[in-house]
Amino acid sequence: MHNALYEGKSKTIHPGEDESSLCIRFKDTATAFNGEKIAELPGKGKLNAAISNRIFAYLAAQGIRTHFIRALDETAIYVRKADIILVEVIVRNIAAGGFSKKYGVAEGTPLPNTVVEFCYKSDALGDPMLNDSQIMALGLASADELKVLTHQALRINTLLDAYFAKGGIRLVDFKLEFGRCDGEILLCDEISPDSCRLWDAETDEILDKDRFRRGLDNVLGGYQTVLGRLLNVC
Ligand code: 5GP
Repeated sequence: MHNALYEGKSKTIHPGEDESSLCIRFKDTATAFNGEKIAELPGKGKLNAAISNRIFAYLAAQGIRTHFIRALDETAIYVRKADIILVEVIVRNIAAGGFSKKYGVAEGTPLPNTVVEFCYKSDALGDPMLNDSQIMALGLASADELKVLTHQALRINTLLDAYFAKGGIRLVDFKLEFGRCDGEILLCDEISPDSCRLWDAETDEILDKDRFRRGLDNVLGGYQTVLGRLLNVC
């Protein structure tokens, strides 16, 4: 494997198979609270790669355009090189995390409509929330691109909500990233228990990175459960 072009908190980026691709390797490092809490969880990279690859394959089969090309090995994938839009798109079905804290809504309260939020993808600034006019004023995305991001995020939510439900999992909320590539907008980054809140549909047991954020035991047991359930969903 070539030296990393870029080292992120949970992934490293390497040269791809050609000029138009990159290689992303999923790391075992877990971080929370903008990098304040950090730990090595051996096997996390493999689990997240397997979960994310399965979800991206499912979304691609449903017509969502993504950066995914193919898996290189158990922890690395080849992706199309894209100009990452520095706007994180958060979708919420059930109140939890930042939404519950900011607006005083009890965790677990179903939301009467799907919530879509935008945040500035900037560790230095702590990923602050943005509205449409702020995004345009900062030159992060155009009005047309924001329409595409919102439409794609809602479509992906509908698809994923049904997909996880088949595995007995509630999709509480999640974060998406998109990029520009050859005139189209692609779904990029990963979709895994690092970027989603996933609760067991029967027991509400937490199966995602909140186990790590909250100091619960058996963090990867939750990830393993998610993968096992998805492998049984066609
Ligand atoms: P919250 O705003 O409640 O902290 O997060 C909402 C959802 O987006 C959660 O599923 C959380 O895991 C995900 N999320 C928000 N920001 C980030 C981020 O910077 N990185 C990752 N991996 N996920 C994020």
